[in-house]
Amino acid sequence: MLCIPKKNSEDSCKAFTCKRNKLQTKKFAAVPFNKRVVFVPHCMRNIAVCTAVEKNSCYICVECGGCKISEISKLVKELNYQALYVVKGGRAIQHIIKEQATKAIVGIACFFEGAQAFKILEKENVVVQFVALTKDGCVATDTDLIETAKVLKYNTVESVQSAH
Ligand code: SF4
Repeated sequence: MLCIPKKNSEDSCKAFTCKRNKLQTKKFAAVPFNKRVVFVPHCMRNIAVCTAVEKNSCYICVECGGCKISEISKLVKELNYQALYVVKGGRAIQHIIKEQATKAIVGIACFFEGAQAFKILEKENVVVQFVALTKDGCVATDTDLIETAKVLKYNTVESVQSAH
């Protein structure tokens, strides 16, 4: 996974992802929860305690509570999402969405990776909502749980309007 874009590049990726998110939010809200998948970067894991199971290009979180992925995973199950994948790299995403016949995804990533994902997934029939990392890098990254939950819960046009 590519990390830490330069500042000017980060600003343009930020503007790009923000615009793409807004364009796709209502469409995303119309997709049933059970047709949506969440992608979380592996760098969010707390590697000092993580007991996630490595499988192909992903980790399966066992919700040990060692990092925020645990809370995200619980909410994803509560909402009846199709699945959550802790991915080692962006390349796994296209393969998974084809295999799962996914209609919408929530992707947590740095701005650079988010912008790349929007571009790559343009050709796929899938709606995307991006949630930015609040601390990027290649290890011990972080995101805002409130923002993540807000996006995961979008399920009506009203929920989108009240969140903006
Ligand atoms: S919550 Fe999941 S991803 Fe995070 S450290 Fe525990 S097993 Fe690993």
